Amino acid sequence: MSDTIQKYKDYVMTGFLKSVAPIVVDHSSGVKVWDDQGREYLDCFSGISVVNVGHNHPRVIAAAKEQMDKLVHCSSYLYHVKPVADLAEKIARIAPHGLSKTFFGNGGAEAIEGALKLARLYSGKHEFIALHASFHGRTWGTLSITGNQGRKKRGGPYASGIAFAPAPYAYRSLWPDDPERCALHCAKCLDDVIRFETSGDVAAFIAEPVLGEGGILVPPSNYFREIKKVLDRHGILFIADEVQSGFGRTGKMFSIEHYGVVPDILVTAKGIADGFPLSAFTTRPEIAAAFQPGDHLSTFGGNPISCAAALANIEVMLEENLPARAAETGEYARKSLRELQEKNSLIGEVRGHGLMIGVELVRDEKLTPANSEAEAVRDSLLRQGVLVGVGGVYGNVVRFQPPLVITKAQIDHAIEAFRSALAEVAQAAVA
Ligand code: PLP
Repeated sequence: MSDTIQKYKDYVMTGFLKSVAPIVVDHSSGVKVWDDQGREYLDCFSGISVVNVGHNHPRVIAAAKEQMDKLVHCSSYLYHVKPVADLAEKIARIAPHGLSKTFFGNGGAEAIEGALKLARLYSGKHEFIALHASFHGRTWGTLSITGNQGRKKRGGPYASGIAFAPAPYAYRSLWPDDPERCALHCAKCLDDVIRFETSGDVAAFIAEPVLGEGGILVPPSNYFREIKKVLDRHGILFIADEVQSGFGRTGKMFSIEHYGVVPDILVTAKGIADGFPLSAFTTRPEIAAAFQPGDHLSTFGGNPISCAAALANIEVMLEENLPARAAETGEYARKSLRELQEKNSLIGEVRGHGLMIGVELVRDEKLTPANSEAEAVRDSLLRQGVLVGVGGVYGNVVRFQPPLVITKAQIDHAIEAFRSALAEVAQAAVA
């Protein structure tokens, strides 16, 4: 066993998932990573949907190094720091209309916590509504609004004042062939949840425009418009959790843009700085004004190096038109995966926006989740040198979320490996 793996076992507090071949990642470039044995992998998971412009993008690294030589930290909330100001301005330019003031934190959960706090202060109300199958982080507050027992288990009881509405999971709804009807049903349920499960003191509704950890669930095209009508009727703010789906991942800069709806607060992290730790929540000036000076602060939040990296990251995305490229290559990948589905009954559904793609594996027509098969597929792909994720509320969704710079040839390679992984799993079932 390698020294690094042994030290992880002895000294790192962690819960590694069972994996046939634990690897030590050594270095990376673009869509590829290499382990400490020099073996090459095609990374179709981007460090959990993070390195959107590719690993070690030279411009991002150069911007970070330049900043590192000047200033690492002096607290961006006690003193003014140029990269923070420049990045906040840049985000105001690319964010959905009217969202122009940003608070910077370090990770997704921290930004979600901040957004919840801001929503309460602005609205003067205290409760929240979230979705079944949602995931918003691992702190106590974010687990409280997470609608997934798998993530919450052994951590309760959780915060009170939180209600849950059904997720727009059309594939497992009564209307798998009529997703718009599923969306109308979900909007009606949200109205019922507000009326019957809350005291009417609801500050905000929070949702991921594509539910990532829930299984890359793509809400039907009318979903957020219908939801927004309900929220507006009840005077409830809408927080879009784009921690995973933001920054080009879904073929738009922000995935809520697919739905023609503007959230009141937009939360981002993962893809914002190509791997440097940074998160943000962005809102309209009148909502931002609910934070009085000193109401909210983060020692490391708005770190100058991360902000400089984020600025370069966004510039690369805009110059290389990466959201549009993700839309095109994502469509190409889904088409190939659907062709594979025709010959493979283990594939229940292929779904996604851009390069946020989920393949739900099922054992039969009753849609019994093929969760051990999904893990076996991931392990086979790892052996073949392709990194993917597995997730979903039933643990049966293979997740393809590669850097947005992946080429069609690399997609072909990954899908061919996926085809042989499926064949391997099918053969093992017969044996
Ligand atoms: N929100 C969403 C939608 C996520 O996918 C995640 C992480 O996977 C989080 C929040 C939490 O982010 P972090 O792990 O950076 O705290």
